[in-house]
Amino acid sequence: MKRVAVLGGGPAGAHAAEKLVASGLDTILIDEKLAWEKPCGGGVTYKAYERYPYLFENQTQKKIVTESYIGAYKSVPAMLGLNQPILIFSRKELNQMLLDRAEAAGAQIEKQRVTGIVEREHGWTLNTKSGNIDADYVVVATGARNPLREMGTEWTPEDTMVALGYYIPTNQDHIDIQFLDRLEGYIWIFPRNGHLSAGICGRGETAQRLRLRLERYLDEKGINWKQGQLYAHMLPSLSRRHWRTNRVAGKRWMAVGDAAGLVDPITGEGIYYAMRSADLASQVITAGGFDPLTSGAVYRGRIEDDFLLDLEFGASFAQKLYLGRFFFKSIPSCIVDYMKRSPKLYELMQDIFSGTQDYLTLRNRLFRNLNGTVNEAVVNFIFQRIIPEPPVGVRAEVR
Ligand SMILES: Cc1cc2nc3c(=O)[nH]c(=O)nc-3n(C[C@H](O)[C@H](O)[C@H](O)COP(=O)(O)OP(=O)(O)OC[C@H]3O[C@@H](n4cnc5c(N)ncnc54)[C@H](O)[C@@H]3O)c2cc1C
Repeated sequence: MKRVAVLGGGPAGAHAAEKLVASGLDTILIDEKLAWEKPCGGGVTYKAYERYPYLFENQTQKKIVTESYIGAYKSVPAMLGLNQPILIFSRKELNQMLLDRAEAAGAQIEKQRVTGIVEREHGWTLNTKSGNIDADYVVVATGARNPLREMGTEWTPEDTMVALGYYIPTNQDHIDIQFLDRLEGYIWIFPRNGHLSAGICGRGETAQRLRLRLERYLDEKGINWKQGQLYAHMLPSLSRRHWRTNRVAGKRWMAVGDAAGLVDPITGEGIYYAMRSADLASQVITAGGFDPLTSGAVYRGRIEDDFLLDLEFGASFAQKLYLGRFFFKSIPSCIVDYMKRSPKLYELMQDIFSGTQDYLTLRNRLFRNLNGTVNEAVVNFIFQRIIPEPPVGVRAEVR
């Protein structure tokens, strides 16, 4: 029987292993830590649990959040009732649940660090401290800090954001999102069971400066971050240019999740794309009979059709959305203020939070819907200046 090795046991790797073994392949998953508290907000959107309902229907502890406050520099936060709740997990617990599912489906799970990978005539040999493991095909799910240089995204500094935060032992029931003056990024406070994950992500600023911005914000809110535990990690955020050339597959390997850079360049959502890419990679491997040459191209085509073109398009206006201005006011601040006055913009924000509004159809939806009042006409005007026309022929194909 052919054997697939899945390298990494985060959401991408665990989900790939579950799907591969369920379709009858001999599957081994190798992760150096297995379930661990990967630096993350832990937020899972409706889009994710609608497609993978067991993310909702499980015994794993999670916070089910139905309210968010969205603030921006010089704007009083607007309350957004979420039409679909956001689930917030501790990543250790989420990863454990996904690994348990892979194991229950029959995958072999190994706690090992992969230290090297060598191509053989018809497959791979993986090096670990306790010996070598042979496999016919490899799924690379080693995350944003993927140590395998020949596989997965080739990072450049413009393709990542710094992300850091604190796990703080206190409680609240709602989410806070705060946009800051001249920052391509944002602060989040995600309530979890027994603690908060409060963090900041941003491009073009040092980690030190981002940390100061976060601490200042938490001080203003009276949240004692000094009691918290600091975390930091790299957040993939591919530039538009790089989505085109992004290396997601090669001969007898496919990269999934963060190792392939598959994160929403505007919101930073990655858990859904980790699982979805793992799902599509597993389908292609299972259906393609391990064809070493064509399966990579088929996988690329599948993720393009499914979500990649949408994320690429999002990357084309992400910076303008964060840093653009309209009559001396930042765009996030305009959005926050108009959200309070326009029920249609409010509804749109709900759909963005639930993940049901894609980027390719956003401009069109605004154009069609935001024209009832003067306020809406202004919002529409602002967005039409920021969001370019989607590429011809693409919009109809995606979602
Ligand atoms: C601060 C921060 C906040 C975020 N918040 C959210 C959020 O709220 N919601 C959301 O959807 N996304 C969020 N993301 C993104 C999300 O965390 C990632 O997109 C997601 O974890 C990707 O899953 P993955 O399985 O691809 O990679 P990871 O979860 O990073 O898993 C990779 C695995 O590979 C293993 N590994 C790596 N190298 C080796 C090796 N050599 N040998 C063996 N094992 C190895 C690691 O131990 C790890 O378990 C956030 C990211 C950051 C940085």
